[in-house]
Amino acid sequence: MARRAHNFSAGPAVLPVPVLEEIQRDLLCLPGVGASILEISHRSRPFAQILQQAEADLRSLLSIPEDYAVLFLQGGSRLQFSMVPMNLLGEPFNSAAYIVTGSWGKHAANEARKETTVEVAWNGQSTNFDCLPQEHQLQINPAAGYVHFTSNETIQGVQFATEPKVGDIPLVCDASSDFMCRPIPIKKYGLIYACAQKNAGPAGVTVVIIRRDLLERSRDSLPGYLNYKAHADANSLMNTAPTFAVYAVGLVARWLQNEIGGLENMLERNRLQAKLLYDVLDSSVGFYTGHAQPDCRSLMNVTFNLPDDALTAAFLAEAEEHDMISLKGHRSVGGIRASIYNAMSTTGVEQLAKFMTDFRNRNS
Ligand SMILES: *Cc1c(COP(=O)(O)O)cnc(C)c1O
Repeated sequence: MARRAHNFSAGPAVLPVPVLEEIQRDLLCLPGVGASILEISHRSRPFAQILQQAEADLRSLLSIPEDYAVLFLQGGSRLQFSMVPMNLLGEPFNSAAYIVTGSWGKHAANEARKETTVEVAWNGQSTNFDCLPQEHQLQINPAAGYVHFTSNETIQGVQFATEPKVGDIPLVCDASSDFMCRPIPIKKYGLIYACAQKNAGPAGVTVVIIRRDLLERSRDSLPGYLNYKAHADANSLMNTAPTFAVYAVGLVARWLQNEIGGLENMLERNRLQAKLLYDVLDSSVGFYTGHAQPDCRSLMNVTFNLPDDALTAAFLAEAEEHDMISLKGHRSVGGIRASIYNAMSTTGVEQLAKFMTDFRNRNS
């Protein structure tokens, strides 16, 4: 069998080995079912149990209160960029506020603009999204139907440590790349969405957590699949669910609970691992330049540049020779992006940190 590398992909991304092993073990036949997860009806009793269990595990892991619905949808976070404004706006809400802290927030605002009036509450573009707004810098119209923000900008590597303060306006969060990386106070949110393939599972399912009173904003005239209330009423089984992806997200939630010991522990490990890499940047006397300002650095995506393109290319090639893959930064930021999601092992991060130090010693 080929050796597993340390995989720093931004997404789809590394999954916990115990989860992969469980999938492998049960792939021919789910215990007691006589067929695999890939082969059973989404309306069958075994899948109903898998779906219920996945929801229950997410609820306990994230302490999701009863007055929030948990939906499993398709279309990725991209579709949420449109579903959020389509569902949450309409009389008397005729505008939405967007806090734009990176590429994904910008995409989200651009899609929302097709549906409504978007008022940009803050925009970090002028410094290529290397920082986050201070509380007093947010300009939020109190009549906005919701305020949207991106908790972790996957491309630039900036992450909110806490929720922006928006008063009573429902707060909507794209948590695609830091979902379940730490405990969050769900009560502060109106809606949270996260595609699974960064930090929560394989591609194919997007989790939406929505305060139930907001479901009343979904108008009957919306296309059926684009209507949150219709999905909530159907318990995420309006049509064929992405059965395998839901199953895998359930396994990841259980791994977080049983093997990691919950999200407090996960946060502690994520902090330690991120610090290993940021410490190398900070002690590199300018060889490595972090993209994000130190006070808003991401625990999930560590972004940095090297002195020139030739060194960047050499870094990537040598890292790959040492079994560290998918470290190339997004073209808009350049350089290196080390995505160190929940499933990244401490060993993998230690190996990268050591490699970075060696590489610098040899090349500066
Ligand atoms: C990856 C990502 C998206 C896009 O997700 P898709 O599932 O590809 O549509 C949106 N927002 C953030 C923060 C992301 O990291």
